[in-house]
Amino acid sequence: MNTSVAIVATGNQKKLKEIAKILEDFSLEIKSMKDFGLEGLEIIEDGDTFEENAIIKARTVMEKTGQLAIADDSGLEVDYINKAPGIYSARFSGEGATDEKNNEKLLGLLEGVDLKERTGRFVCAMAAVFPNGETIVLRGECEGLIGFQLSGENGFGYDPLFIVPEYQKTFGELDSEIKNKISHRGKALEKLKVALADKLGGK
Ligand code: IMP
Repeated sequence: MNTSVAIVATGNQKKLKEIAKILEDFSLEIKSMKDFGLEGLEIIEDGDTFEENAIIKARTVMEKTGQLAIADDSGLEVDYINKAPGIYSARFSGEGATDEKNNEKLLGLLEGVDLKERTGRFVCAMAAVFPNGETIVLRGECEGLIGFQLSGENGFGYDPLFIVPEYQKTFGELDSEIKNKISHRGKALEKLKVALADKLGGK
């Protein structure tokens, strides 16, 4: 397929860099929303799943630009509370939500719950929408346990509460390099790379 530009549909510079790094084997020019004057674009994420929301973001940007667009949607599922906060992870604590308030709310809901029942996972859906409308969507997951208190300064969001059993550390305590390898986003991106290689004939 003759596609030379890919726009990463995110305002988050860290995600943009992470995605650009994974895609560097392709002869694709990676562009940001800002490069197309779309930094103020408000996209209503009204899907019911991570996959639907990722596709909504990528499709909106593809339609505005006519170029291949890539977007992700991610969040945390906690089994004890029926997979909440899920697609509502960013706004879990309501209007004016912050990482701090979201973590506080989660800890409150799990008060008195044993470690073995505090299972959950980070989920990331990664979507690519091509100029002809063709769509790829893939999911990466990372299983873990929700701790009893915040631990570690790295990362963002729920990272200080999310314990990775294999390392006995939270994402907040792990190096970003390790996190990127085992994370939901890292896994979804690796899958996207394989799928794009198939379509674009990259390495
Ligand atoms: P979004 O996909 O950028 O909209 O992320 C949704 C929300 O999920 C974020 O605001 C965080 O609360 C949470 N989240 C997603 N990925 C991560 C992660 O890697 N670490 C911690 N929190 C995350």
